[in-house]
Amino acid sequence: MGSIDMSASADFDVLIIGAGISGINAAYRVQTELPAYKYAILESRNAIGGTWDLFRYPGIRSDSDLYTFGFAWRPWSSPKSIADGESIRTYVKESAEQYGIDQKIKFHHKVLAGDWSSADQRWNLTVDNNGDKKTFSARFMILSTGYYDYNEPLKADIPGIDKFHGQVIHPQFWPEDLDYSEKKIVVIGSGATAITLIPSLADNAAKVTMLQRSPTYIMALPTVDPSGNWMRSWFPSWLASKLIRWQFLVLSFIFFKFCKAFPNAGKKLIRANNKKLVPPSIPLDPNFKPSYNPWEQRLCVCPDGDFFKSLQKGKADVVTDTIKNVTGNGIQTEGGKFLDTDIIITATGLKMQLAGGMNVSVDGKVILPANKYIWKGVMLQDLPNAAFVVGYTNASWTLGADVTAKLVCRLLKRMDANKQSSAVPRVPEGKNLKPVQLLNLNSTYIEKAKGTLPMGGDIAPWKPRANYLVDHWTADYGNLTADLEFTKGLKSKAY
Ligand SMILES: Cc1cc2nc3c(=O)[nH]c(=O)nc-3n(C[C@H](O)[C@H](O)[C@H](O)COP(=O)(O)OP(=O)(O)OC[C@H]3O[C@@H](n4cnc5c(N)ncnc54)[C@H](O)[C@@H]3O)c2cc1C
Repeated sequence: MGSIDMSASADFDVLIIGAGISGINAAYRVQTELPAYKYAILESRNAIGGTWDLFRYPGIRSDSDLYTFGFAWRPWSSPKSIADGESIRTYVKESAEQYGIDQKIKFHHKVLAGDWSSADQRWNLTVDNNGDKKTFSARFMILSTGYYDYNEPLKADIPGIDKFHGQVIHPQFWPEDLDYSEKKIVVIGSGATAITLIPSLADNAAKVTMLQRSPTYIMALPTVDPSGNWMRSWFPSWLASKLIRWQFLVLSFIFFKFCKAFPNAGKKLIRANNKKLVPPSIPLDPNFKPSYNPWEQRLCVCPDGDFFKSLQKGKADVVTDTIKNVTGNGIQTEGGKFLDTDIIITATGLKMQLAGGMNVSVDGKVILPANKYIWKGVMLQDLPNAAFVVGYTNASWTLGADVTAKLVCRLLKRMDANKQSSAVPRVPEGKNLKPVQLLNLNSTYIEKAKGTLPMGGDIAPWKPRANYLVDHWTADYGNLTADLEFTKGLKSKAY
């Protein structure tokens, strides 16, 4: 235990880090576009699916429709557009199995560090495998490590929480055996996790209260889209699935653009949706009146209005107030309310983390992502042969993950054709970039991560990604040389 096992070294063309939905997608693209390549996936846990395996709280489900969240190469075929966590986990796992990607995964391989060797034109990765240190090398690395810390949630400063006699639970670490039947529960937070959890908990708990400092936009949507069923009955399945994917893609894009261009009309639309569903006992102001415009933070979707139904049944309640302090048996608010409770759930968000906590260096010199710009939303300035898979925050994450994977494959093909061993994004001298926020939301977890994330620039090719329609085109046909410095050389193949 603890020794460095050099005999375990292995050399690859591409190493993908992370076997979540983005890593499996990247693997599919690599093995399809570059069939001669030797690749592997290094995964720190013992499961496929990342987020969809880690999170086990009751009611866990997607917020996005699975027609766009699912793989373009294995369309989601269920009539239900929003899926529960287990169905997504199974879908990702079965997709990996169907294409033999599961055979390429090395589980319990946590990548601790990656150092690029300019002399060898390779990445050398230090990996922890159940306490043993191993080294792997590769010409190119794809970091599909997600965007948050798997071990530590975002710390929320809740005064007096240590004095609480009941259980305090963060949804990232849900106890499998938690018995909450007939218990009084307070869920702190108003994001997607709270909106998902509450209807599910309300089925068995005595009462669930959502305690929010500020409200979020929530919209009820049907789980089954009738137009999808119509298309499936009229068109062959390959065509129907394409049409359904594009329908969801375009409609959600139009709705996003509409909210950005006409925020007041967007607010009215959502408010009208809420007005029909929120019981009169819970006033819309302030409980359903966010202080920001729609889509400045991620919009929450509740399938078939399940969240509102739990309010209508009186099993759940909403309180908009600030916590004064937590006592042994409840929460005292600044507004003078006391919420008597047995369990507190802190749905207060995720702690953002880039590159799965890895140390990244070039010839031994550490690179700090926060000081660097991102090239086309994919590669980090001054870092050779490495792609960061970051999806969209205002559409299905995986659409962004896929354009990244496609762009990387096209870049590698081009490099092979030109006998180039590496590509490194460089900001040319005299190009004075102005920093632009990379993720276009002002959610708390993104605000708190400022100063640790890389920057977007104000001039192409350093601008943050635009939207799927533009980025899809860029991945397939966009320029692959602007502000990239190439090294000609041997060692372009691992074998
Ligand atoms: C509860 C919840 C619900 C969500 N719902 C939606 C939704 O509806 N729509 C949407 O678009 N997005 C949603 N998201 C965002 C979601 O995380 C992404 O959409 C998507 O699942 C991310 O996939 P990923 O593969 O990029 O990352 P992850 O799912 O986070 O997978 C990363 C993988 O990398 C591994 N890893 C990390 N670091 C290392 C390392 N150093 N070495 C080796 N392996 C490592 C992890 O173990 C993990 O398996 C949700 C997130 C959460 C938490």
